[in-house]
Amino acid sequence: MTARVLVVDDIPANVKLLETRLSAEYFDVVTASNGMEALAICERGLCDIALLDVMMPGMDGNEVARRLKADIRTAHIPVVMVTALDQPADRVRGLEAGADDFLTKPVDEIALIARVRSLSRLKVVMDELRSRAATSASLGMPDPLAQALSERGLRGKILLVDDRDSSAERIVAALRGEHDVAREASPQNALFRGAEGDFDLFVVSLGLKDYDGLRLCSQLRSLERTRQLPILMVADIEDRKRVLRGLDLGVNDYISRPIDRNELVARARTQLRRKRYADALRESMQVSIEMALVDALTGLNNRRYLETHLASLLQTVTGRGGSLSLMVLDIDHFKSVNDTYGHNAGDEVLRNFAGRVKRMVRQTDLACRFGGEEFVVMMPDTTMAVAAQIAERVRAAVQGELFPIDGGGRAIPVTVSIGIAESMGVGDPDMLFRRADKALYRSKNSGRNRVTADAA
Ligand code: GH3
Ligand code: MG
Ligand code: MG
Repeated sequence: MTARVLVVDDIPANVKLLETRLSAEYFDVVTASNGMEALAICERGLCDIALLDVMMPGMDGNEVARRLKADIRTAHIPVVMVTALDQPADRVRGLEAGADDFLTKPVDEIALIARVRSLSRLKVVMDELRSRAATSASLGMPDPLAQALSERGLRGKILLVDDRDSSAERIVAALRGEHDVAREASPQNALFRGAEGDFDLFVVSLGLKDYDGLRLCSQLRSLERTRQLPILMVADIEDRKRVLRGLDLGVNDYISRPIDRNELVARARTQLRRKRYADALRESMQVSIEMALVDALTGLNNRRYLETHLASLLQTVTGRGGSLSLMVLDIDHFKSVNDTYGHNAGDEVLRNFAGRVKRMVRQTDLACRFGGEEFVVMMPDTTMAVAAQIAERVRAAVQGELFPIDGGGRAIPVTVSIGIAESMGVGDPDMLFRRADKALYRSKNSGRNRVTADAA
């Protein structure tokens, strides 16, 4: 993952150092030597993450952070304060100014890359949230996403995995003010609790007595139930290699001992925010997929879905020299079902019809309700000859068994007319659709309840 990183420092050598290291990891680097310049770059949307030196003449880094966080144009940009190791008070001030993360000078290479990566992942989900929130706002929909954007990462449910009492007590004490923290000494139990519980964050010590903390991290990453759970490792200074392994395994962040209380608090917040953004996105995606792409009556995908997917599917299939066949189905004399038995009976027939079509086509085929009593089945990598067999199977299944109506009280006969066409190397979805539709028209005209293949 790449990102545009703004490096701000009044000392050119410091800028150069960070720039070199970030460029080596393929990040794009933008630089500034003072606060005003930095603000201008952020306002113009030219960076994804800002690294701010705290001590600068004129406007210091904390002031820059405060202004960035107060402006709606720039508030979403993750800010990392770069502070000297012997100035813990600066970190508190940076946090209060709204900074998302810290780095201490001299900047450790692993720490730099780990933090920038972690924050660029955060930025990616935030950007996605912002764009979705804007879309739903413009459609006048109430918006849980906008709410998620103001998420500060507080009141999380955290599980600390640490078997050393004194260490655990310190960590719990640091996080207790903002979160609900449970401690677990046994890694096995931790794994169970992670899979069962609704934890938002795991804090895992790499210094467990008889267990490799990295193994636990890797298990958490491989279990379905815990795959999305953020993990923060607590490492000893000499653990550098294992920290790198952990980050490669997908651990989100780490903190080194001796633990700086403020740093721990800030890192926990960042991970909680990221998780909540991602949760909100997943949830909204689920809802909008269901609302926008699935037909409520039959549960099949709808026309909108068909139109977007047919185009891309056709492109893929044609690109590799394959062929896609399209089946267009229209229930015969359906109007008279409504007229004779009522609209509810019509709906029952539509649902049952959709179910039969779905059962009769293959897993790789995709059935959609095009609208009314018209349906479409996309059949990738399928020639006309095969498509004709499948269509005939569908036709027979519809005719073969009466359709229950009135909640099963009665049953009526229904038939369907079908047209099919094969793409034959042509990537135009409209053309393919028109050909299948023309074939359907011929089925209707020559007596209904039949399958006609496009002649082209
Ligand atoms: P043909 O054999 O030529 O296709 O005749 P038809 O009656 O099936 O075709 P027509 O297009 O004239 O009528 C389609 C009917 O489908 C009219 C409309 O009221 C009905 N219909 C469309 N959507 C729904 C729905 O969601 N539920 C119900 N119950 N009826 C629907
Ligand atoms: Mg019709
Ligand atoms: Mg019809």
